[in-house]
Amino acid sequence: ADWGGHSGSRLGLDIGGTLAKLVFFESEIRPSWCNGRFAQVIKSLGVQTVKSEDDREFRDFVLSRQGSFWGAQDKELSFYDEELEGVFHFLCFQTDKMERFVALLAAQDLHHQIDEIYTTGGGAYKYSRLFSERLGINLKPVDELGVVVKGISWLLRRPISDEVCWLSDEPPKSPNFESECHFLDSANSLFPFILVNIGSGVSIVKVDGTDRFERISGSALGGGTFWGLCNLLCPDCKEFSEASCLAVAGDSSKLNLLVEDIYGGDYELTGGRKLPGTLVASFFAKAGRNGQAHDDAAVLNALITMISQNICQIAFLNSKLHSISRIVFTGNFLRQNQVARQAIATNMRRVSGAGLAGKQLHALFLEHEGYFGALGSFLHNVE
Ligand code: ADP
Repeated sequence: ADWGGHSGSRLGLDIGGTLAKLVFFESEIRPSWCNGRFAQVIKSLGVQTVKSEDDREFRDFVLSRQGSFWGAQDKELSFYDEELEGVFHFLCFQTDKMERFVALLAAQDLHHQIDEIYTTGGGAYKYSRLFSERLGINLKPVDELGVVVKGISWLLRRPISDEVCWLSDEPPKSPNFESECHFLDSANSLFPFILVNIGSGVSIVKVDGTDRFERISGSALGGGTFWGLCNLLCPDCKEFSEASCLAVAGDSSKLNLLVEDIYGGDYELTGGRKLPGTLVASFFAKAGRNGQAHDDAAVLNALITMISQNICQIAFLNSKLHSISRIVFTGNFLRQNQVARQAIATNMRRVSGAGLAGKQLHALFLEHEGYFGALGSFLHNVE
C-alpha cells in the first residue's frame, strides 16, 4: 500500500444521495503534497485570519456546524494510527453542495497531483463530468457495498478501541450518548454478521468475511424518508441534527396508538408473555384526532421511532432467515441520533427475546457509522 507517496490520492470519497463523505489520511512520515496541504489548510483555519471569500467558505466548511453550515469535519472521529504513523480525518457535507466543494478544491489548489479518485455512491457517476472538467480528476466508481464491508473489516483490524458498541435498555439521561454505550473488546470476531446500512435508503447485507458478502434485503423506508417527512411536517426544523436533538424530548404517546389505548393496559398473550401497554400498536394513528395539534418534538420522535423500528424488524427477520446473530447498524441516519439508536436497541431485544427459543440479541453500532464507504474507497486508492 502507498500510504504517503505521491502517486494516486490519499482521499476516499463516498458521494451519496444526501451526504458526501470524505476521508483523508495525513501521513507523518511521508506527507504527500495533496494531503499535507489538505491537513495544513484545515489545521491553519482556526488561527488564520480570513483573507478572502474563498478562505471564509473553506473555514465554514471545515469548522462550522451552525450558521452558514454546509459541511463539517467530524473531529471526534479522527484518530492517530500508530502502525501507519498518521492521522485519519473525516468530513461530510451535503451532496447538493458538490459544485461549491469542487470550486473550493480549485480555489485552494488542493487538486494538484490527483489524477483519479476511487469513489463510491451514485455521485461517482453523477459528478464525474464536473470533476474531470473543473479539476482534471477522473472519478473511478467502486461498488458501494464492497467498499463499506472493506472499510468495516479494515477498521476492526486496526489497533483502535471503542469502535463497536451496544446500548443498555435505559434511555440516556444526558445528551451525552457515549455514557450509555457498552463497548465490545474483541471487535475482530464480528464475522459473520448482518450489516444494516441506513442511508437515504436501507441495504441489508450478509457479511461472511471481508470479500464474502451478499445483499439479502433492503427497504426504501430509510433516512431519506425521515428527512423528507421531517421537512414536510416540521418546516421550522432546518437541520438534521436539530431534528434528531428535538426528538429526544418528544412525547409521541398522543400521536401513536398504544396497546394500552386499545386494551386499557398490558395485553396478556398465551404462554405467559405480554405486550406492554406502552408498546406502539400503530404509529401516528391518533394524529390530529379532534383537531389536536402536535409539537415538532413529538412528531419527530414518532417519525424516527417508526422508521427505526421498521428497519429493526426487517433486520431481525433476515438474521433469523440466515441464522446469524450479530446485527450491525451503520449509515448516517444514526448520526447523532439518540432516539433512532435507542429505538433499534430496545426493539431488537424485545423482538429477539420474544420467540419460544428466543435468545436476546443486542443491536451493534459502530462509531464511524457513516464513513465506511468513504474509508473503503480510500483503501482502494492506496492499495
Ligand atoms: P447516502 O449515502 O444515501 O447519502 P448516508 O449514510 O450519508 O446515506 O445517510 C443519509 C441520511 O443521513 C439522510 O437521509 C438523513 O436521514 C441522515 N442525515 C444525517 N446528517 C444529515 C445532514 N446533515 N443532512 C441531511 N441528512 C442527514
